[in-house]
Amino acid sequence: MNRTGILFQIVVSMALAAALVAWVVGDLARRYETQRLTQQLAEQADLTVSLLGGLMLDAIIVEDVPVLETGLTEAIARNSKLLAIQILSEDRTVIAEASARSKSEPRSYVMYDRPVEWDGVVFAHMVVKWSTSEGEVMVQEKVRQTILWTVLSVGALSVLVLFLTHMLAMRPLQMIHQRMSDAISGLKRPTVHLPWYASREYWALNFSVGVMEDTFVERDEREFALEQAREAADIANGAKSEFLANMSHEIRTPMNGVIGMAELILETDLDEDQKMYAETIATSGSALLTIINDILNFSKIEAGKMELESEAFNLQISMEDVVTLLSPTAAEKHVEITLRYDPDLPVVFEGDVGRIRQVITNIVGNAVKFTMEGYVSIDVSGSAKGDLCDLNITVTDTGIGIPEDKIDYIFNAFEQVDGAATRNFEGTGLGLAISARLLRLMGGDISARSDPGAGSVFTMRLPLLVSGKSCEPVWPDHIDLNGLKVLVVDDLELNRTILFERLTTWGMHCTLAASGHEALNVLAETCARGETFDLVLQDYQMPGMDGCELAFKIRAIPQYAELPLVILSSVDHSMDAGTRQALGACELALKPVRSAQLHSVISRSLRPISVALTPSNASKTVLQKDKNLRVLLAEDNKINQLVVQKMLKDTPAEIFIAANGVEAVQMYRDSRPDVVLMDMMMPEMDGLEATMIIRQLETENHLDHCPIIALTANAMPADKEKCLQAGMDGFLSKPISKKALWSAIEKSSEIIDVLRTGT
Ligand code: ADP
Repeated sequence: MNRTGILFQIVVSMALAAALVAWVVGDLARRYETQRLTQQLAEQADLTVSLLGGLMLDAIIVEDVPVLETGLTEAIARNSKLLAIQILSEDRTVIAEASARSKSEPRSYVMYDRPVEWDGVVFAHMVVKWSTSEGEVMVQEKVRQTILWTVLSVGALSVLVLFLTHMLAMRPLQMIHQRMSDAISGLKRPTVHLPWYASREYWALNFSVGVMEDTFVERDEREFALEQAREAADIANGAKSEFLANMSHEIRTPMNGVIGMAELILETDLDEDQKMYAETIATSGSALLTIINDILNFSKIEAGKMELESEAFNLQISMEDVVTLLSPTAAEKHVEITLRYDPDLPVVFEGDVGRIRQVITNIVGNAVKFTMEGYVSIDVSGSAKGDLCDLNITVTDTGIGIPEDKIDYIFNAFEQVDGAATRNFEGTGLGLAISARLLRLMGGDISARSDPGAGSVFTMRLPLLVSGKSCEPVWPDHIDLNGLKVLVVDDLELNRTILFERLTTWGMHCTLAASGHEALNVLAETCARGETFDLVLQDYQMPGMDGCELAFKIRAIPQYAELPLVILSSVDHSMDAGTRQALGACELALKPVRSAQLHSVISRSLRPISVALTPSNASKTVLQKDKNLRVLLAEDNKINQLVVQKMLKDTPAEIFIAANGVEAVQMYRDSRPDVVLMDMMMPEMDGLEATMIIRQLETENHLDHCPIIALTANAMPADKEKCLQAGMDGFLSKPISKKALWSAIEKSSEIIDVLRTGT
């Protein structure tokens, strides 16, 4: 915006003030002069009338008209301002009159009517018409002069004010402003000193600008130092991330040897001590691996290199996965994990399911770790606005809790509650830091509340896009549960609520009982009313009357001898086959039960004939022992060669070993293996290049597709991407377990089967 300068503003203000003053002064002068002129004319009229009256009194008395008119004409001729005179008798009739000879009627005049008297006796009246034109011209001239002088003096005064303003105010102000601008823009110029006559206020302002200059200089120096430090830190951070990635790779390779060998040792005949040693090696190895993964994750997020993926996934199943994973550890401590998934919430979302699972596993894992007795409950709720759903995931535990003064720090890296109690738990102090950062990357956040000694509540907010894709759970048995009446018996209220919600979504009518006794009462009352239930869904571990006792008591009631029972238990083999047989239509499900599993077990209990076929062993492809599978292992590390060989010892795989990519390609040419296990980093030629050459050979010679599985210590998703791009079919991150290796080979053998039957 173009702003006017203060001098211009002063000039305009002064001009306006001068105009106003000139107008006011002009008006006053005009009034004054007009008044003076009127007064003068009146005096002159009085004088004229008394003179003429005196001179012509005799003629007036005798009404000698000629004499009077001569006298009047004479008087008019002598005074140019006199326009006309009339002499009127007592009764206002004209006795004599005379007027100036000018033809045109003057524009402005005044008339005076005065009595002609002698010794107090009025003889006649004289009306004098007096021209004011001349007087008015004089008045105007006077007014003009007054205005002129006023404007000139105001103008002169303004110039003086302008000069003084410039010298006393503007100049010092401009100098200070210049100095201030230089300081702000960081310009170095020789210091200009204020003129000696500058006022005290400007000296104070100038001093403050000096202080500001010093502060700016300090700030600039600090910023420069900070910038340098930041650059150095960036370089160090980059180096750190690279170092960590390298170290992770270097550590993973020998860890593969340690964990793999420990796993193999455990399969041999060992005495108690040896078994304990081998188990310690295996668990310590796994713990070390978790730490490495944590550090790698954290450094990646810190270096800003964490990239989130997006795919459609079923959140409910992912949550159930976490519960299934952690339940064995919780069950060892008799801690129950419950999951409530709001039935009104969509289940399929778009997001990085791996990272979301990592965060939930970490928070629920902590809750389980720090809870000695009681329960850990997960609650998933939220509100959807259009495509976006604001999820609220709450994890509540009844564990040791977190002291109030520590609660703000636990989300910092390497921060652990420094109590003797916490020291007993394993951990790096990175889990929450990673979770909080991952959630922030996903647009969410995490907070914690705790009551030390009573438990903690971790609340995660996570905005996720609701996916348009359908991942509706598929119930394998297709039994419609709608309208069925079920009695739910569980001592834990939370469990009753969760089961109630789940069963109600399937259209079942639930009645809840908090104990075996209450359940029996409900059953008896229902019986008395002549009604019945279609199913009883009951917990196994309950105080007072346990699930088994309740089941037998139900069977003892004649009306319920055939009633389908489903017992949920946290302990495997809690009822032996004999007991189950004695109970008749009774299904046992291991807690935690997933939605799909619960649906399936209820369906089975309602249709006992279908029990015979369990889906877990119906469809699995198992390699036949006599089938010879030729596996080419391209791996430069001797220990890892040994680990893989030993892991595949009991399988029908025949293993050829190539120590680098060149050898691998050569051996592929010579012996055409069924599967290739390919290390990524090898001397001479790496796994990626070798894979590409093999794929090229296949295309050129129209050979069958040979599955290639990457075996690598590089754990980054980008590495996986590279492997797949090079033409590999699978990816196994070291350290590999026997189970993972075997299932990857099994999968690839399915590919072979499919391809072979296809040809
Ligand atoms: P770690 O569990 O590996 O020590 P985390 O970052 O996951 O590291 O947790 C940091 C600390 O926060 C833990 O060491 C523990 O002191 C505290 N903490 C986290 N979750 C809980 C919980 N559910 N109950 C009590 N303390 C907890």
